[in-house]
Amino acid sequence: MEKPEYYCDVAIVGGGPAGSTVATLLKKYRPKLRVAVFEKEQFPRDHVGESQLPYISVILDEMGVWDQVEAAGFPIKVGATYRWGKSPKLWDFEFLNHGQFEPVPRPSKFEGQRQHTAFQVDRGIYDKILLDHAASVGAEVYQQHAVKSIDTDGDTITSITVQGDQVNGKVEAKYYVDCSGYAGIMRKRMGIESLVPTTLQNIAIWDYWRGASWAVNIGIEGTRVQVMSVGYGWLWFIPLGNDRTSVGLVVPANYYRDRGLRPNDLYMEALANDPVVSKLTEGATREDQLQSTKDWSFLADRLAGDNWFLCGESAGFADPILAAGMTLAHKGARDVAYTILEFFRGEHDEDWLRERYTEGNRRAIMQHIRFADFWYSQNGQFSDLKDYAKEIAGDAGLDMNSDDAWRWLGTGGFVDQDSSITDFAGFSVVATKSLTANFLEDEVHYELFGKTHFRLNLGGAVQGFGSNLFQGRINKHPCYIRDEKYLPMLGVCGWVAHLLGNQERTAREIVGAADAFRLAPERTQLEQAMFPKLLIQTLEAMIADGWIVAKVVPGHDGWPKFDIDESRFMHENKDVAKLVGE
Ligand SMILES: Cc1cc2nc3c(=O)[nH]c(=O)nc-3n(C[C@H](O)[C@H](O)[C@H](O)COP(=O)(O)OP(=O)(O)OC[C@H]3O[C@@H](n4cnc5c(N)ncnc54)[C@H](O)[C@@H]3O)c2cc1C
Repeated sequence: MEKPEYYCDVAIVGGGPAGSTVATLLKKYRPKLRVAVFEKEQFPRDHVGESQLPYISVILDEMGVWDQVEAAGFPIKVGATYRWGKSPKLWDFEFLNHGQFEPVPRPSKFEGQRQHTAFQVDRGIYDKILLDHAASVGAEVYQQHAVKSIDTDGDTITSITVQGDQVNGKVEAKYYVDCSGYAGIMRKRMGIESLVPTTLQNIAIWDYWRGASWAVNIGIEGTRVQVMSVGYGWLWFIPLGNDRTSVGLVVPANYYRDRGLRPNDLYMEALANDPVVSKLTEGATREDQLQSTKDWSFLADRLAGDNWFLCGESAGFADPILAAGMTLAHKGARDVAYTILEFFRGEHDEDWLRERYTEGNRRAIMQHIRFADFWYSQNGQFSDLKDYAKEIAGDAGLDMNSDDAWRWLGTGGFVDQDSSITDFAGFSVVATKSLTANFLEDEVHYELFGKTHFRLNLGGAVQGFGSNLFQGRINKHPCYIRDEKYLPMLGVCGWVAHLLGNQERTAREIVGAADAFRLAPERTQLEQAMFPKLLIQTLEAMIADGWIVAKVVPGHDGWPKFDIDESRFMHENKDVAKLVGE
């Protein structure tokens, strides 16, 4: 047998956000591992995908790199302004209550309000910070080293061939991770099929601008990204610093083909047609490096094999309307690192580890694809794309009011097996309900309101394990599973399931038990404040997922009407609208 040129414990292909995250977390929790990253480019290199979500900051903090990213001075994303939905009026989505962002000098710490904000990153700078950080914690990082081929034996990767100055030849590792992004080099080599579960087949055209204005300045260096529908697609406007702004257009591939315009002409036409983006780019200049790409949503059939993992964009891609690609990449990468750490520890069944990684991450990507379908199909501003929106809605079976939409979105379940947190594509239950109702110009409706009796429904469920990831370990907890939906016996879900047991409980009994739990002396002030909100969202999600059957028995008190102030994170826009005289 040919002697390998190089040996390591974990070989990672690609040094984007996914690759750096896997490498850093492996080194953090098991410093003795030999971890190598092979990246074909020399960083900094430009990359599209700049608008982050707050959850990334939690992972950056765990990686020990949040302070460096903060020190780079990227604009702080406190939310987004949209022209999207039935009405042409602008509206805001806020990460902080009512968008209240205090003017705290920078660089700041990852605490308080900054735990709820995100960054708008210039990927050339951001990806380099992360990759350099991976090297600084001991990963062996090789830039301008491309992986050229992969040798396999059945479902096992036996080696990869790397071409570069320092490593040139066969590399053997115990585990291999495909973080090669769109290239998906291992996915293709391992013959993993990709599902395209959506009609959304778009292309994106973008350029970078110098001297564009920010739509809003909030606190110190806080702003909102702009997402503006035009008749045939939508524009993103993402400031990346004081002087550089990413401005892109997304249109259906068919529309682009049928219009027959050159990409530059279509791009400039869309900018000219949108009052917000045209105003903000007045007097600004383009870098004149127009780029374009297909942004076809897809989902790989399997994300893990005998000794390999697909991670980040090589595992799947959801349309950028939700600005979630990097969040999925960082989150999936953290999961791969934790999974490999458990493989080395040998305490969990390996098949279970592979399955939980595949299922959890496929589910997350699928939720985003589904939510993107919903966004597109319900956008009345696509005046030239009515048939396209109808086709997406038809293919997805989306002809509905907001209650139906809620049920449709929840096909794969709202309760997350890993954390028992109830959300959908990163949006809380309240936010998802508000968004769907807003798009459909419908009232927000909670199943919970007015119900008097609640019963746990475990019929047809099997017992299994859920997991949660904490400080480098995957901890197992008991869980019920039915129709790909999970009921983890953990957190608020576990509390509710234990309380109900096999007894029907009244609303009054649950409220009483919740008060006793919340007000126990050992609870912190934060827990006391958060528990009622979490309980409502958990009950609503458990009803939607079929774990609770709720009914009304006349003569009993129904679940008390609760006021949820939806305007704290979603409301009509005032500032940008004023800027453009709307
Ligand atoms: C039009 C568009 C807009 C987007 N907007 C957003 C957004 O606003 N917010 C957001 O969060 N996400 C967005 N995304 C998604 C985001 O860009 C990706 O999710 C993210 O870059 C994925 O990170 P990754 O590490 O998996 O892959 P990448 O960042 O693509 O990194 C992969 C790396 O692998 C390297 N590589 C490839 N092949 C090889 C090889 N053979 N050998 C060695 N190295 C190799 C590449 O050079 C690259 O550096 C957008 C995507 C598109 C297409």
